[in-house]
Amino acid sequence: SSLKASAATISFQEKSKLLENINSRDDLKQLLAEIVIETNGMTVTSQDLQSKLDKAKKEIEELRIELVQVKESASCDALTGLLNRGFFDTTLEHLVKKNKYSKMCLTLLDLDHFKKVNDTYGHLVGDKVLKFTAKLIKQHTEDAHFAARFGGEEMAIIMPDTHIQKALTVAENIRATLEKSRLKRKDNSESIGVITVSIGIASLKPDDTVESLITRADEALYKAKDNGRNQVVLES
Ligand code: GH3
Ligand code: MG
Ligand code: MG
Repeated sequence: SSLKASAATISFQEKSKLLENINSRDDLKQLLAEIVIETNGMTVTSQDLQSKLDKAKKEIEELRIELVQVKESASCDALTGLLNRGFFDTTLEHLVKKNKYSKMCLTLLDLDHFKKVNDTYGHLVGDKVLKFTAKLIKQHTEDAHFAARFGGEEMAIIMPDTHIQKALTVAENIRATLEKSRLKRKDNSESIGVITVSIGIASLKPDDTVESLITRADEALYKAKDNGRNQVVLES
């Protein structure tokens, strides 16, 4: 159709030359009739192009949406909807390099006696508990935070520009809310015993690496476990 359009342009140019040499009414009428016919042809051609363009635009928009979805699912954990470990690692690496001289906290959360939850109620109920905990974490964290599934029943929150006291408040709210949530099985409304979580928090130091920061948060988490679980511990 683009060929057709250029052919029409050429013949328009030819006709404009003819126009200069016209000397009778009939010739003029004849030429105008031909121009009208060609103009109609061009309208069809440009409508054709327009609809092809519209279709291509629509396809591009659909692909764009698909790309956003693919990108999102590539950074998300399928079960919990939290960020996945790969995205967490990349983000933490980036932020540790960038934020060396500002406050940043890393919070690690591990569900207490989760193996027992699975053993008692089954793996699918365990999955629901994980989902519920993830939802709770999302509700208590800010948009600027990065909440991720660190692995298994362990979750992590990166809190950029956050003082450790603020991180403690967020973590304590998550812990207390989970403890008082009375989870029930959907199928028979049977209550699932009290679910609790242990939490460790470390804040970034200028000479930290990703590994040293994670290690300190992990040590704090293990202190929380050692001290009897269901508590938040700050790095020493
Ligand atoms: P602790 O209080 O010391 O953390 O005890 P725990 O039982 O939670 O710790 P442990 O590491 O022994 O067990 C973790 C359990 O989490 C074992 C594993 O089957 C379970 N788990 C890990 N990922 C998933 C999951 O995606 N779904 C379910 N349902 N269970 C999971
Ligand atoms: Mg664990
Ligand atoms: Mg656990």
